[in-house]
Parts: sequence; structure tokens; C-alpha cells
Amino acid sequence: MDSEALLRAFRAAAVDIRTVLGAHPTTRERAQPVGLGEGGDQTVMIDQAAEAAVFTHLDRLHAAGHRFCAVSEERGVVDYGSSDLRVVIDPIDGSVNAKRGLPFYAVSIAVADGPTVGDVRLGFVYDFGSDEEWAAEHGAGATLDGELLDPGLGERRLPDGRIEALAIELDTRSVGPKLEPLMAATYRVRVLGSMALALCQVAAARVDGMITLRRTRSVDVAAAALIVREGGGLVRFPGLEDPLGAPLDLEPHAPVAAARTEATLDELAAIAAE
Ligand SMILES: [Mg+2]
Repeated sequence: MDSEALLRAFRAAAVDIRTVLGAHPTTRERAQPVGLGEGGDQTVMIDQAAEAAVFTHLDRLHAAGHRFCAVSEERGVVDYGSSDLRVVIDPIDGSVNAKRGLPFYAVSIAVADGPTVGDVRLGFVYDFGSDEEWAAEHGAGATLDGELLDPGLGERRLPDGRIEALAIELDTRSVGPKLEPLMAATYRVRVLGSMALALCQVAAARVDGMITLRRTRSVDVAAAALIVREGGGLVRFPGLEDPLGAPLDLEPHAPVAAARTEATLDELAAIAAE
């Protein structure tokens, strides 16, 4: 795996997506429906155009001799000559934000040498709201805009023991039964609207943890999960036998929880568990 070549391609794809976004700035343009994606969500113009930008660069990698398969939110599985290396793509994570002009959405690309999130070796997330680049390579740490993140960063707790800030992704219908444990465990919550970016904030210890109150798909979280782990955080899919065993496909398999410490991960995973 030539990580530098892959990262160059992913960066070029992010530049092209930014160009598409700039050319279609309004909700009316970005939200134009264009059909259903392989993942079952309604595909809108901006999802399709962003995916096309990524695949242009995957085509070039293939032409340059790279062999892999792509797993992407809208197109599903695309064969580029080998199933040993998987490139897992969410062209726009935080699609509703992107459609409506809220500044939290990203392209997320993970590269794995096996079938699960635990097998991800390279992660790339580009935030189009803040223009921040998050990246990680297995065993080499995580970076934010090229600067190595400090894996020793801890969490912040109030004197009463609650963590200061939790990023959470949810459907409104799932929050009711979780209100009591959330109130007991956390002081503030932040709902950013992008799974990948919510996780990345844990990598830099901007929040003390992240949970989802619904099942996640690997396309949304595969890259960011590696970024969290390489940034000194911990990730778990509550309910799965292997804590990082979520398959790299388009099905939602389990909620996800992330934290800076084992104790907090246990606490948050219990809240996220179905
Ligand atoms: Mg998406």
C-alpha cells in the first residue's frame, strides 16, 4: 500500500468536491434528487457529484497500477482488480448539512486490508466547513492539517464526575429512553450532524467522547475510527463480539462509541448499546 500516493489522490478528490460545492452553493441545487443510493438513502445531486469526483481519482489510481475494490455509499461495491484492499468511501458525510449550508460535512475515505473497521490502515477525512484535514495511518499516529495529534490528551470532567462535552449523533426518536443516562454522564452535548467529524473531534480531545443512538454504517465511520485510535482515543461498536468488528459494507450494524479513556468508553458504550 503506497500511503502517500493514496493520500495524494484523496486530497485531490477533496479539492474537486470543494469545486463542485462552490459551483452549486444553494440548497435548491445541492438537494436536487437523483435516485436511491446502494445504501438506501435518497441520493441528491451533491452526493452524486462528490462521489463522481472521488471515482475519477480512483480510476487514476487503478490506471497507475493500484489494485483494490471500492465500497461507496451511492455506487456500492466497485471492482478495481482486487478484493484484498478495500477503499471505503462516504463522498459526503453530513449530507443534510451539506444540502442546507450548515458547516459540518466531510468526505471520508478509509483503506483496509481486511473485512472490518479494525482492519483499516489509512483514514482520511476532509471537513469542508472548517477546511481541516484529518488523517491517520495505522501505527504512525493521526494528524490534523499535517500536525501530529498528541495521543496523551485526556478528558475533562466536572467536579461532580460528568464529562464536560459529548458529541452525539441520533434520530430524535431514539433519544427518549437515553435521556436519564445522558443527564447522569454528561454536562453538554453537541450534535454536529456528521458521524465522521463527530468522531474526529474525539481524536483531538475537543470533546470527551462520541456516541450514536442508532446503528452506524462503516462508510461513515471507518476512516474516523482509525483517526481516533491513532490520536490516542478508543473506539467500540457496542453489541458486536469484536469491538471493532463492524463489517466494511453498506449495512448499519451497530452504534459506535468513542472516548479518551477506557472508563469513559465503558460508560458511553452502555448508553449507546441497543
Ligand atoms: Mg454520505
